[in-house]
Amino acid sequence: MQDYSIHDGDGVRTTIFLAGCGLRCRWCANPESWTQQRKLAFHAHKCAACHRCAQACREGLDPAAKDFDPARCTFCGDCVAACPEQALQLACLESGVEAVAAKLRRDEIFFRHSGGGVTFSGGEPFVQPAFLGQVIDACERLGVSVWVETCGFFAWDACKDLMPKIDHVFFDIKHMDAETHRRFTGQGNAAILENACRIHDLKIPMTVRIPLIVEVNLDEDNLRATAAFMRARLEGSTIELLPYHELGKAKYLSFRMAEDFHSFSTPSAEQMEWAYGIFAEYRIARHR
Ligand code: SF4
Ligand code: SF4
Repeated sequence: MQDYSIHDGDGVRTTIFLAGCGLRCRWCANPESWTQQRKLAFHAHKCAACHRCAQACREGLDPAAKDFDPARCTFCGDCVAACPEQALQLACLESGVEAVAAKLRRDEIFFRHSGGGVTFSGGEPFVQPAFLGQVIDACERLGVSVWVETCGFFAWDACKDLMPKIDHVFFDIKHMDAETHRRFTGQGNAAILENACRIHDLKIPMTVRIPLIVEVNLDEDNLRATAAFMRARLEGSTIELLPYHELGKAKYLSFRMAEDFHSFSTPSAEQMEWAYGIFAEYRIARHR
């Protein structure tokens, strides 16, 4: 859970990241949330090589070593507690609805004064529909607004009953060409575009988010195809373009996923404005 988010919807929000996602976007900034397995991150730049973590491990592991074997780790957290440099961190921890609700009760005052609330992100929040539904119900009881950021790749039937309880959806559309979409994310886009239409048809306010990446989707044909789709099928939805960044690179190293990291180019400010201009031609407003 991330406090004081100001870029994931109105006001001050608490962003809740749910683990698990069916896409493998090559530019993903949250690769630790691809699966729901617990993980141990090692932030090498913080490590003072004191070996206290290895001394604390009852499994005989050295979490600071290059040959650390996560398959033998029980994710007990003893090494995390022993590390004086905060160089170790557990991720993808289980949490219960009551623990989340207690946290939201503490945050409620910020929500009330700022017009904020909760934003579910991930990973893909709709891959955990039962848990998501219970937390949304808790939000409803507290009178807290609910926004969801989705990659759109989820089973509609398992999630459709949640939709009317959601105040706003950030819906990622990465590419309009199915084969290009598959090449860069591992999946085609048919189910994603269909889910976008279904959410729109329920009249849930929607912002389409596009991670703009020079080598992937910053071409006029694709942007025009996206704008035309929004005009024809998602009328009234707004657009937010997010320039690619490499802030996630450190995570790939910390989670020992360096081989999964791919580098792309960030669009310039002029390219961002040019892309927004295409959406303006189709009378699609920017997200506020
Ligand atoms: S989380 Fe527990 S089992 Fe895993 S390396 Fe740390 S101390 Fe050892
Ligand atoms: S306890 Fe922390 S600082 Fe010491 S070796 Fe382990 S990871 Fe590095």
